[in-house]
Amino acid sequence: MDNCNIWMDKRICIRCKKKADVVEKGKDYCASCYFICFIGETIESYEKRKNELEERRRIKNEDNS
Ligand SMILES: [Zn+2]
Repeated sequence: MDNCNIWMDKRICIRCKKKADVVEKGKDYCASCYFICFIGETIESYEKRKNELEERRRIKNEDNS
């Protein structure tokens, strides 16, 4: 068992030390920290907003038809 290799082989989020999914400017981030750092909100609020936009667009399209 060589514990050092775990950290050398795998990307770790620099903020929360979880598994990193994204590399931005040479730094590793997990998806949720990436969103908070670069988009300025959590994935949850981003997706909620996106869903609301799509819902609004769908309703608008139904009105026009
Ligand atoms: Zn993180």
